[in-house]
Amino acid sequence: MRDTDLYRQLLGLEKPWTVDRVELDVKKQRVDVWAKHDKPKSWTCPTCEKSAGLHDHDEERAWRHLDSCGFQTFLHARIPRVHCPEHGVRQVRVSWAETKARFTALFERFAIDVMLETSISGAGSILKLSWDEAHHIMERAVARGLMRRPNTVPKQLGVDEKSLAKGQRYATMLCDLEHGHVIDLAEGRSKDSLMHCLGKFSFNDLADVESIAMDMWEPYALVFRALIENADEKIVFERFHIVAHMNAAVDQVRRRENKELRLDGDDRLVGSKHLWLYGGGLPADRYDLSARVAFVELRESNLRTSRAWALKESLRALWSQRSRAAGERWWQRWYSWAVRSQLAPIKKVAAMVKRHLPNVLTYFKHRITNAGSEAINSVVQMLKKRAFGYRNFENFRTVVLFRCGRLDLYPTSHLKAG
Ligand SMILES: [Zn+2]
Repeated sequence: MRDTDLYRQLLGLEKPWTVDRVELDVKKQRVDVWAKHDKPKSWTCPTCEKSAGLHDHDEERAWRHLDSCGFQTFLHARIPRVHCPEHGVRQVRVSWAETKARFTALFERFAIDVMLETSISGAGSILKLSWDEAHHIMERAVARGLMRRPNTVPKQLGVDEKSLAKGQRYATMLCDLEHGHVIDLAEGRSKDSLMHCLGKFSFNDLADVESIAMDMWEPYALVFRALIENADEKIVFERFHIVAHMNAAVDQVRRRENKELRLDGDDRLVGSKHLWLYGGGLPADRYDLSARVAFVELRESNLRTSRAWALKESLRALWSQRSRAAGERWWQRWYSWAVRSQLAPIKKVAAMVKRHLPNVLTYFKHRITNAGSEAINSVVQMLKKRAFGYRNFENFRTVVLFRCGRLDLYPTSHLKAG
C-alpha cells in the first residue's frame, strides 16, 4: 500500500478528498500529510446545504491529528469556499474537523477522553499540548455541550454557595438533583449570581420546578419567591447546611472552653476540633483505638463542648422522623432543650432554624437534600484545591462543567472513532 493510501484510510478521508503527499521528519518526530480534493459533482453551502459553485480556496491550514507511531501528525489542506446565492461566500464543511478547530475531530475526542481521566496539565504532558491548547479544547467541548443540552428545567433543583479559596470569594452553583449534575455556576452569592445560573430558563419553564434544596440564604430565597409560584412550598432549607451551622457553633463553644481550661493547665480539648464534627463513629482510617477511647471519654465528660456536640448530633434525628407532624413535635422538644442549654452559639443557630422552620419542614414533603450531589461536591472540592491554577473564574467554571455538567462534549465528525 502506498503511504498516501495508508493515510487516506487512517484519516478516514472521504470523496472528494484524498491524500496528496506525506512527509516524514524523523529528527522532529513529525508526520505531515497534505490532503487535496478532486472535482466533486458539486459543493454545498455549509449553512443551507444547497449546492453552490466554487468561489476560491482559503489559505492552507494545518490540523493536529492523532499521532502515528508516536510521531506528531498534522493534516494540511486548503479548504474550498463556495458562493451561495443566499449566504454569500462560505467555507465548505470538511469531514475531519469542526469549523475553526485547530485539531481534527478525532484528536479532540481523544484529548477530551484524556482530560476526563486526568487534568489539563496531565493531558497536556501526555498529548504534548500547551496548557492553553488543552484548555481551549476543553472550552470548546463545554460550549458544544451547553449548546446541545436540552432546555428543560429539572424537577429538583439544588443551589449551593461554595467558598473559593480563602478571602470571602464565593461561587453559586445550581444543580440538577434528579440526575446529579451541575447546571451552571456563577461568581458571588448574590441574587445576580443565581439569576445568572438560571439564565437559560424562562418564567414558564420554572413553573415545572417541584422542589429546591438550598441554604438559609435570603438572596437565593428571594429570587425563587419572585420567579416561582408557591415557592415556599417548594424550598427546602438543607439539612447539611443546618448541621454545618451547628458544627460551627460547637467549635465556637469548644474554642472558648479550651481557653478557659488551659488557664487551669487542662488541655483535654487541644487539637480536638475535628473530632466533634463526627457523630458516633470516627473514620477508621484517621483515628486509632486510643483516639477513639479518648473521644468517648471527652463526650461523656461534663464539658460544655460535649453538651453542644450532643445537641448537634441529636438534631440530625429531626430528618429521620416519619412525618411532618412528628418532625414538628420532635423539633419542639429539641428547641426547648437547646434554649435551656446556656450555650450562646447553639441558641443562635436554634433561633435561626426556628425562624425558617416552615422551609425546614418542607423536607417531609419533598425529601430532598443536596447529598444527592455528593459526587459533584467531591469533584468540585478537588477542583477548588487547584483553583489557583485557573487564573480566573471563567476557567474554573469551564472545568467544573466539563467534569460535572453531564454534557455531550464530543465534536461531531463524519469520521468514526477507533
Ligand atoms: Zn447557503
